[in-house]
Amino acid sequence: MLGYKENHEKKQLNIHARTLKAFFFAVALCLLPFGAQAIELKGALTQGGYVYGKAPAGSEVYLEGKRLKTDANGNFFAGLNRHFTTVGELKIKPPKGEAETHTFMVTPQDYPVQHIKGVSNKHVNPDPKQVERSRKEAAAIRKSRSFFTEEPAAFNRFVLPIKGYPVSGVYGSSRTYNGEERSWHKGLDLAAPSGTPIYAPADGIVRAALADTFFNGNIIVLDHGYGLFSIYAHLRHMAVTEGTKIRQGDVLGEVGTTGRSTGPHLHWGLYWHNIALDPKLFLTDNERNEL
Ligand SMILES: [Zn+2]
Repeated sequence: MLGYKENHEKKQLNIHARTLKAFFFAVALCLLPFGAQAIELKGALTQGGYVYGKAPAGSEVYLEGKRLKTDANGNFFAGLNRHFTTVGELKIKPPKGEAETHTFMVTPQDYPVQHIKGVSNKHVNPDPKQVERSRKEAAAIRKSRSFFTEEPAAFNRFVLPIKGYPVSGVYGSSRTYNGEERSWHKGLDLAAPSGTPIYAPADGIVRAALADTFFNGNIIVLDHGYGLFSIYAHLRHMAVTEGTKIRQGDVLGEVGTTGRSTGPHLHWGLYWHNIALDPKLFLTDNERNEL
């Protein structure tokens, strides 16, 4: 939500360096014995991260007792929410034979508090008409993230949508606006001048390109497959429309400051359906080092 050259930047960067360090202690891969074979669990096994793997084809897969969608080959993917339990439980029930339950470690994260000032009062305490409008817009955005597309998703091969700009807001921080407590921050803010081109960090399909929404301004939702989505908010200009197939590196639009924003920046969010995840955990090591 913070703009270009905000004085919070330096502080945020320090916070960011801390959370980045925590990530490297996260287990990136673990092997679960499964009958005679092993199930390979991959991903960023940390709060705000994700897990994926392959069960025997036709298996039922459950995470914390909740059934996951799988493709025909048994591939599955799941996001780990901001306060996900530090011991995850995965149950796999193959088409023949007994179900097996395994646990895996999830690294906890330390989330900062961020105080944002100078937000217009209508965005902190919206009137009933604006509340109704934003409720409808939120429903449309949620709906755009309800797809399960069986496309090869590049879970850990994302690149930055804009490069060389400072981080002005991190995932997971709780926030106050003009001193009043509001919901936590569900993405990564990169402060860049208005008009900076935004590039697709991975292949996908545009599921929504909504103009002039109350909180997010112009917002794009990309579907990366297996229930993984990314969003781009506060855009000045959108260069894509709903249904467009996107390749990594395609131009999505331009940085702006539309919606609830105090200055030009890109709000970049990653979601497993409606569960917000930490975008930096999807970047390649090289890209993460550029943050
Ligand atoms: Zn943001």
